[in-house]
Amino acid sequence: MSAEIDCLFCKISAGQIPAEIVIETVSAIAFRDIDPKAPTHVLVIPRTHFADVTELAQKNPNLAGELMSIAAEVAKLEGLSTGYRVVTNNGEDAGQSVSHVHFHVLGGRSLSWPPG
Ligand code: 5GP
Ligand code: ZN
Repeated sequence: MSAEIDCLFCKISAGQIPAEIVIETVSAIAFRDIDPKAPTHVLVIPRTHFADVTELAQKNPNLAGELMSIAAEVAKLEGLSTGYRVVTNNGEDAGQSVSHVHFHVLGGRSLSWPPG
């Protein structure tokens, strides 16, 4: 596990900042978003620091797949049987605000498309 100094999500992964954890594995963690945009809003992150999906896909595509499996597991645990969205904001134009790759799992209401 690598931890970037001053990375919020590395600190959550290391237990230095509290979060409401939904799933934990050796390589990943899923926890509730502090400012939920839907009744279920969970973030799935790798414990290892990657800035964004571009870096994750280049350096560890297997881990990217594992994170998708965890997102699906979160949806099952949260009872999102009528649908859910998995989204990742990559870079400035997409509005990425935390530079540690994360997948939003959103559900529990009808979700509009396109997101804007
Ligand atoms: P982004 O805007 O980068 O796609 O998503 C970052 C997400 O992290 C936002 O939805 C924001 O609400 C969430 N977030 C920011 N700070 C914290 C925090 O300290 N704890 C938790 N659980 N979520 C956070
Ligand atoms: Zn990090």
